[in-house]
Amino acid sequence: MSRRERSREQKVEQVDVVIIGGGPGGLTAGIYCGRANLETVIIEKALVGGLATYTNDIENYPGFVDGATGNDLMRYFQEQAKRFNVKFKLTDVRSIKLEGPVKVVETARVRYEAKAVIVASGGKPRLTGAKGEENFLYDKGIAFCATCDAAANKDKVVMVIGSGDAAIEEGMFLTKFASKVIVSVIHDEGIMDCNEIAKGEALSNPKMEFIWNTVVDEFKGSDHLDKVVLKNVKTGDLIPVDVDSCFLFIGYVPNSELYEGILDMNQRGYLLTNDKMETNIKGVFAAGDIREKFLRQVATAVGDGAIAGFSAEKYIAEEETFQTQIMETGDKTNLVYVYNATDQCCLDNLAVLEKFEQEFPEQCKLVRVDVYKSNGIAKRLNIEDVPTVAFIREGQVLKVLEGNLTRDLLLANLTQEISA
Ligand SMILES: Cc1cc2nc3c(=O)[nH]c(=O)nc-3n(C[C@H](O)[C@H](O)[C@H](O)COP(=O)(O)OP(=O)(O)OC[C@H]3O[C@@H](n4cnc5c(N)ncnc54)[C@H](O)[C@@H]3O)c2cc1C
Repeated sequence: MSRRERSREQKVEQVDVVIIGGGPGGLTAGIYCGRANLETVIIEKALVGGLATYTNDIENYPGFVDGATGNDLMRYFQEQAKRFNVKFKLTDVRSIKLEGPVKVVETARVRYEAKAVIVASGGKPRLTGAKGEENFLYDKGIAFCATCDAAANKDKVVMVIGSGDAAIEEGMFLTKFASKVIVSVIHDEGIMDCNEIAKGEALSNPKMEFIWNTVVDEFKGSDHLDKVVLKNVKTGDLIPVDVDSCFLFIGYVPNSELYEGILDMNQRGYLLTNDKMETNIKGVFAAGDIREKFLRQVATAVGDGAIAGFSAEKYIAEEETFQTQIMETGDKTNLVYVYNATDQCCLDNLAVLEKFEQEFPEQCKLVRVDVYKSNGIAKRLNIEDVPTVAFIREGQVLKVLEGNLTRDLLLANLTQEISA
């Protein structure tokens, strides 16, 4: 094998958890998984910290009385994750295979085989779709991150598209550098989508100008953007405006192309989960802006990440218990007792089972599954009601008995299953 062929070969790494995306959601999930002693890898294709690093001022994340820059806040998150031995890989996830107990996540160089995957891939800025847009993206004049690009706009004329919190707060930040910030707002004069404090400050900022009832019709320039043609949505009039650059803040779309046809999503591509952040595939969780949810913010991404990390830990522990204690039986029959430890009827039946196990120690082994602690294993066995006992031998569920148990009932079934 030539050296080139060998270097192209993919390495295989077995880990407990792979987290796709290193924004606030992924970093928090990492902190929870790392702290649970799970071998955890966060794969991030752009900047650790995600969209939160796009803003210079996060004022609504609790605990930071005077606010924090997105970069600082995300640095603290990352350092905390590293403290719990979370590994970071700065690369793009190319493909995934999520069905089955071993989840495969592939980057250009490594094939990760994980017990659980947390999808925290967030979103990306939405484009206007106006003429010429593709020609000027990023370093050609159309930008999305004021924190990253504000300094390059010293004494320049900048246009901001949008009137939500991000547009107005980032627009005000840009006034510290630019000579003028012109804001294109789709609504009637005085109507904006941002919070009232930002609105008041922006309207009284002498460096900010507003062009109401407008959307972008065309981006123009030769090598670099030098003109944005706005269109009045009421009159249809075209308004050419000379600018040095333009920042788009008109919302976000989820980074969910990779999961199409694999994970359930809504029509707009946001992943669907339950309140444990579980997706439609066992062992695969989603957190943060990529989820269908009401509010996309750092605080909510953090909440999701915490739940996803905790759920992944529970899933892995249950999967191990399921394989090693429930399905592996040796030459005995496992009597898997699904019960609720706070229910007296369940405890009475437990006493019957314990006595039965003592009487027939060579033939059976009692395994207790308390749904009061967690119902994951019961769900795997498709058991909904308690008390229920499942007879399991050589990885097969042979019989399920619901309700009250007696020694004779247990013995009849045990004898029947052994002789079958
Ligand atoms: C300008 C701006 C200002 C904001 N201001 C505030 C604010 O003041 N307060 C607030 O609470 N929130 C604010 N937000 C929103 C906040 O940043 C987001 O809600 C939050 O970052 C979502 O976190 P997340 O982890 O879900 O996703 P993201 O932050 O989007 O992170 C997802 C990460 O996944 C990575 N990724 C995607 N696909 C792949 C792949 N295939 N392989 C590897 N990596 C991948 C991306 O590169 C990205 O880094 C602001 C956002 C912007 C853009």
